[in-house]
Amino acid sequence: MAAIVEELISIRPKPSDGWNVERIRKDFPVLRQTVNGKPLVYLDNAASSQVPVMVIERGAQYIEQEHSNIHRGVHYLSMRATTAYEGAREKVKRFINARDVKECIFVRGATEGVNLVMHGYGRKFIGEGDEIIISALEHHANIVPWQMLCEERGAKLRVIPMNDAGELLMDEYQALLNERTKFVAVTHVSNALGSVVPVRDVIESAHKYGAPVLIDGAQWAPHARIDVQDLDCDFYTFSGHKIFAPTGSGVVYGKADLLEKMNPFQGGGDMIKSVTFEKTIYADLPNKFEAGTPAIASQIGLGAAIDYLNIIGREKAAAYEHQLLSYATERISALEGVRIIGTAREKLGVLSFTIDGVHPHDIGTILDQQGIAVRAGHHCAQPVMKRFNLPATARASFAFYNTTEEIDQLINAIEKVIEVFV
Ligand SMILES: *Cc1c(COP(=O)(O)O)cnc(C)c1O
Repeated sequence: MAAIVEELISIRPKPSDGWNVERIRKDFPVLRQTVNGKPLVYLDNAASSQVPVMVIERGAQYIEQEHSNIHRGVHYLSMRATTAYEGAREKVKRFINARDVKECIFVRGATEGVNLVMHGYGRKFIGEGDEIIISALEHHANIVPWQMLCEERGAKLRVIPMNDAGELLMDEYQALLNERTKFVAVTHVSNALGSVVPVRDVIESAHKYGAPVLIDGAQWAPHARIDVQDLDCDFYTFSGHKIFAPTGSGVVYGKADLLEKMNPFQGGGDMIKSVTFEKTIYADLPNKFEAGTPAIASQIGLGAAIDYLNIIGREKAAAYEHQLLSYATERISALEGVRIIGTAREKLGVLSFTIDGVHPHDIGTILDQQGIAVRAGHHCAQPVMKRFNLPATARASFAFYNTTEEIDQLINAIEKVIEVFV
């Protein structure tokens, strides 16, 4: 493990270096395989990104040498596991610039993050006649929990609409805000279209009405810097498996004063100070929100993924990804009969498209035969599809280990689809 970190640090790019994608690809063993006789071209990073050796080794080290339960044992292994788990929390704190580790709650992913806030904050503070604002760009994970709350409490869900480019209509947002607005929950980047939402404005305006704001950062976190203090968001959530860590890891950040006031999410072990049959006293933050044994190996892996991102240089990775997206956009736009869905001025990581006369599932299947992994479907964002009168799109999504050659292969494969179907 130490050797891997040392090697990575030794090859760490200097500010003057370009992005050495071939070197970076060596860190991702999963990319070294063929699919249907072709080298794998992995362009489904928005669904789940791949895991570098450094993260795999860190998870394996826990399982081989430290596997035990956290916060409980006084024995050696448990103390080591606890140190590693809490060390990952410290890394998350720095990664998002939280004030304190107690504001960083480990969850299984963004879905659980939203649900934790809905249960902990929503069910306690939102009632009949109150309004919750979400946006037309949301993933189902940031729609359904709020609908459930509205149904239970007699509150009303309001939706910020978007234009044909996939940009939120901020004037309409201003018009939705009022004294009944008790919560705002919006995505930072649309997973279906790639649109970047001006969350700073969303937050500032909501705060004028005293409404807390949750940002769903599942698609932002893999690509750009997060500073929760600078944004002044009240809650922020993302999934580990989309930022190069294993599944089952994730974070929901909350401002300490809000988390203190909230109800726990789940009851059980580790979230209590004392239990009698008459009364339970809850544990302090962050444990109050972490009932039961968590995904320890995965959360430790998330800490290692953050280390990895810091070592390879996040700014450089982001600049490279930006080039990839521009290149792919330019090449796809040039194809006859292919339409890009989502043309917001500011986009990150995601390119959704359709081909006239071809169902997106057929696009996905033919690309898979060429070894190219894209997602075809509604991307857990059916209202976004409905807005564009589409049942589905094909979506290519990029990470810093993708190459322009892979995009060329994607274009060749799309040309093949057009040949076969049109
Ligand atoms: C993936 C995703 C989610 C849900 O994440 P899970 O890891 O499935 O919990 C929520 N919001 C957005 C924008 C996403 O892309």
